[in-house]
Amino acid sequence: MRKPALMGNWKMNKDLSSAISFVGEFFKLAPDVGGRIDIVLFPPFPLIKPMVDVIRSGARRSDLVEVGAQDMHPAERGAFTGAVSGLCLKSVGANYVIVGHSERRWIFGDDDATVASKLRTAITMTFHTVLCVGETIEIRKAGKHFSFLESQLDSAFADIDINKAADISIAYEPVWAIGTGVNATIAEVGPMVDMIRRWADGAGFPGGGNSLRILYGGSVNEENSAELYAVDGVDGFLVGGASLEAFTFAAILDSMNKRL
Ligand code: PEP
Repeated sequence: MRKPALMGNWKMNKDLSSAISFVGEFFKLAPDVGGRIDIVLFPPFPLIKPMVDVIRSGARRSDLVEVGAQDMHPAERGAFTGAVSGLCLKSVGANYVIVGHSERRWIFGDDDATVASKLRTAITMTFHTVLCVGETIEIRKAGKHFSFLESQLDSAFADIDINKAADISIAYEPVWAIGTGVNATIAEVGPMVDMIRRWADGAGFPGGGNSLRILYGGSVNEENSAELYAVDGVDGFLVGGASLEAFTFAAILDSMNKRL
């Protein structure tokens, strides 16, 4: 009932030619999942349109890759130098957007209120939205990771009509596992995913917590993906580093496909 997803966040990596060659290589290497897994790539903003064009022109299989944006400004337009609006993103073919990635929160200073306003705009504009939540190592060591996650979720959805939030994926991404090579263990991921489902039940999420797509992110690679995908309730991954090479991204997809 929940459609699995594999998403690749390229962050500030790649240029036009390496992005285009990734697509060709990935189409050669990836298993044909017959549309049963959503595959989404999040390149830097200027690469969205050329990626959309090359994917559409080369689409020869049912598992078309979608392209999304790593972030967006909450306003529709205006004097916000350097920022990109949802309107602009939609116009170049981005149907997905990430909101609240930990690098936006901890490096660029997106606070809970900013994340909430971006989430509201993304939902209003009917993006497939990926909301990232996750605790720092200090919070986990203090044993406050459950309550921290709950407060991140509460504040992100504070102003949102939950009935309109059906098209959301939550990515549980512990900050200490992102880009570190240290993934959360299956014993750590499972309870957090359960907690997110319970939260969604309590919040009145459309269809209940069981209908919410939950991804794990944090040093996922071709070696640990099968084990992490076997965690009950994990519906796929948001992958950073290992999404930069077509063969590793394809291998992660293959490990998911084998379990379907
Ligand atoms: C991410 O950026 O969302 C991420 C999970 O990165 P990595 O896979 O490199 O840890």
